[in-house]
Amino acid sequence: MDGVAGTGPGPGRLEERFAEKRPPLSDTEAVREAARCLYCYDAPCIRGCPTHIDIPTFIRKIATGNPRGAARTILTSNLLGASCAKVCPVEVLCEGQCVYVSDGRTPIAIGRLQRWAMESGGGPELLERKPKTGHSVGLVGGGPASLACAGELALKGHAPVIYERSEMPGGLNLSGIAPYKLKVDEALEEAEAILALGVKLRPGTEVGGNVTVDELFARHEALFLGPGLGSDSRLGVPGERGPGVEGAVAWIERMKLDPAASVAGIRRAIVVGGGNTAIDAARELRGLGVESVTVAYRRTVEEMPAYEHEVGPARREGVVVLERTAVAAFERTEEGGPLARVRLVEAENGRPTDRELVTLPADLVLLAIGQSTLADLVRLFPDVKCDRQGRIVVDPETFVTGNPRVFAGGDAVNGGKEVVNAVHDGQVAARAIDRLLREGALAPPVPVPPKSVGGPDSRPKPPGASHA
Ligand SMILES: Cc1cc2nc3c(=O)[nH]c(=O)nc-3n(C[C@H](O)[C@H](O)[C@H](O)COP(=O)(O)OP(=O)(O)OC[C@H]3O[C@@H](n4cnc5c(N)ncnc54)[C@H](O)[C@@H]3O)c2cc1C
Ligand code: SF4
Repeated sequence: MDGVAGTGPGPGRLEERFAEKRPPLSDTEAVREAARCLYCYDAPCIRGCPTHIDIPTFIRKIATGNPRGAARTILTSNLLGASCAKVCPVEVLCEGQCVYVSDGRTPIAIGRLQRWAMESGGGPELLERKPKTGHSVGLVGGGPASLACAGELALKGHAPVIYERSEMPGGLNLSGIAPYKLKVDEALEEAEAILALGVKLRPGTEVGGNVTVDELFARHEALFLGPGLGSDSRLGVPGERGPGVEGAVAWIERMKLDPAASVAGIRRAIVVGGGNTAIDAARELRGLGVESVTVAYRRTVEEMPAYEHEVGPARREGVVVLERTAVAAFERTEEGGPLARVRLVEAENGRPTDRELVTLPADLVLLAIGQSTLADLVRLFPDVKCDRQGRIVVDPETFVTGNPRVFAGGDAVNGGKEVVNAVHDGQVAARAIDRLLREGALAPPVPVPPKSVGGPDSRPKPPGASHA
């Protein structure tokens, strides 16, 4: 497939108003920073990276003037090394493990060095591709898990086909990441480089909708499930339905992709939740000039699942955090009419009490209290099981499910972690699938007559990509 980046969602979107918060290193800064690395034997930073990038080796290549070599080292372990360099919470991953931290000193800027290497050294085209094998693998969803899995399979000579519900590949890497970390065009560019390895994309194709699971089994020897999570969860309190109350992930997607999205007339916003999505949404609202942004969380700040390194800056940017607070009701001028106020009560042990706290005027409320799972989709695949939380059950060594021809990874398996975890799962699954295909252990597909499988095998169309 050619050119996805060139046909992205187009100009005039809210995300364009954001500048990046972590600027790139200059060439001189990169070489100077690389020279600080101690090239530790048994480097703890590698253990801190879920994809186990050989960090000291790529840093040494930067220090010795070999950016292509540095990029190749990164990509060998992580095909989404370019976006991971910008979106990974390095504070708790690689940089958090750097030996400098235990000495009370500033860790090596691994994330920024990785970005410099990826921007100076090149992309996945640097990697060697094995001769074609003729084996075919179908992947459900075009997010980081599937892109990593498909890219790895293509490098091994197989023919992967990604079935993606929306019009553009990238999943939440495209539609969810805060725009001051990664923009839509950057995510598309990386996806395009992976597709260029020999991955086919069928955009606008919903598995279980315009393509059936039986068709997938008939077309491909193995399948990989990377559909992520479902839609934003709701609170179920009075007055929730109607304008002014929406899911945070859905709002972020519109802010990033839809030129018609606007914050005009929004002066006071409340974000409900205490995870990273809540904090991202609050910072994004402030960044767009919303005067008053309050995060209402049902436990204490210390108990927030959001990273400390995100909560601190959010508060410094003017986001107010109300602890032990729950929403009791949304008040509207009339039923289904515009949102007027939000009635907040005290929460105890994370549960609402009947003790009134405050009633705040609000123009917009974003619900960031989790996402549903896609258990209904998973049920369509025979012998693929979910646990009680709706996460797909896999063998942790190979990411195979209860069905020997079906593998799975990413948010659908871990319940919602980071891009780098999804990449890890996809790549590990790809290696397991490759082994089985070479051993001839997977059933060859039964040919089906050519039939509609949704959109053509090519170009994405403009906005409104529908990530649930
Ligand atoms: C608001 C937000 C901000 C985030 N910020 C960060 C961050 O800063 N750093 C970080 O590392 N991680 C971040 N994450 C997490 C990260 O984006 C996810 O962990 C990662 O994208 C998961 O990848 P995935 O491939 O498993 O799923 P997804 O990215 O969700 O991709 C799944 C894809 O499958 C498609 N799909 C679903 N069902 C079907 C179907 N039936 N047929 C066809 N296609 C289907 C979807 O359209 C989607 O494109 C954030 C998440 C959110 C919600
Ligand atoms: S732990 Fe720090 S100093 Fe040691 S190799 Fe990794 S980045 Fe370099």
